[in-house]
Amino acid sequence: MTPLARLLAKRIRETGPITVADYMAECLLHPVHGYYTTREPFGTQGDFTTAPEISQMFGELLGLALAQAWLDQGQPAPFTLAELGPGRGTLMADAMRATRAVPGFHAAARIVLVEASPRLRAIQARTLAPHVPRWLDRVEDLPDQPTFLIANEFLDALPIRQFLLSPEGWRERLVGLQDEALAFGLSAPLPQVPDTPAFRTATPGDLVEHSAAAQSAVVAALRPILRHGGLALFIDYGGWRSRGDTLQALRAHAFDPPLAHPGEADLTAHVDFEPLAALAPAHAYATQGQVLLRLGIELRADRLARGLTGAALENHRAALARLTDPAEMGSLFKMLVLTRAGAPLPPGFA
Ligand code: SAH
Repeated sequence: MTPLARLLAKRIRETGPITVADYMAECLLHPVHGYYTTREPFGTQGDFTTAPEISQMFGELLGLALAQAWLDQGQPAPFTLAELGPGRGTLMADAMRATRAVPGFHAAARIVLVEASPRLRAIQARTLAPHVPRWLDRVEDLPDQPTFLIANEFLDALPIRQFLLSPEGWRERLVGLQDEALAFGLSAPLPQVPDTPAFRTATPGDLVEHSAAAQSAVVAALRPILRHGGLALFIDYGGWRSRGDTLQALRAHAFDPPLAHPGEADLTAHVDFEPLAALAPAHAYATQGQVLLRLGIELRADRLARGLTGAALENHRAALARLTDPAEMGSLFKMLVLTRAGAPLPPGFA
């Protein structure tokens, strides 16, 4: 048992089973034993690799797309250049380097990072120097001004609840104890569940996931955008409307049963984009592969390849395939742009 498993078992013995959302939140962000609080999850040494860590091209192209959107919206100044869950800060650093030559963009940008982990904040500060970002605990605290926001693999880390449509009605999947070990169980039938298309169209036996945390994060991200302009770009794995249990744990680049190592494995769930898109007056949705190809990733890759030989060149070519190939991240990962009605869409989404 991990130290966090012992704490959770004690809590469940005392006060009863907890929701999957509570379990996820404790595993990821417990102040002492949480995964993001204690670990270095990213890269070859960590438990998983994210797109910005695979290649600098990812942050460069998305940074340029945001800068073009800023130009197309009339170069508001000052504006918030925000990132949610920046990890090691690599995406923002690559975006800033790529946009150096965009006239006025850096002068007008106020970098704001929403990050829960103090340890990752310190890494972000180092990666982003000499830029001086401001850190926020919550998306709700974004400044009240035009906002161009990006979030890669942030929503998938937000807690989800799971509901099963049983013959007696909706029940919630809970984490309880069986023979002293953490185990999944079901609540009594519930009087009410969230009112979304996924719930309305379910048939008996279906498991439906719902992330109130993702909904709130998107609503909060949209608040300054709807008032003052800008846009939000969410990138994550998932689909328009997924079905079934997508909760997964990754430990040392391998799948792990989600209840096996609380606090020591990364826990994520597929992001459902349909209920998030519904929160904005205008949206655009495409696969990561489509957007990166439209943004010219192949040209950028050829350009970078000129300086490389041997293993470095092979890694670079593999990185391009990993980001865009439908068999790798190209179709599993989606990009969702949310903005005001009638606002021009960024390049790659037209
Ligand atoms: N965007 C980065 C990291 C993704 S991992 C990349 O692509 O490499 C998820 C990130 O979100 C981490 O930085 C984690 O600490 C942060 N995070 C997770 N839950 C959070 C929450 N509730 N509030 C703020 N940050 C959170």
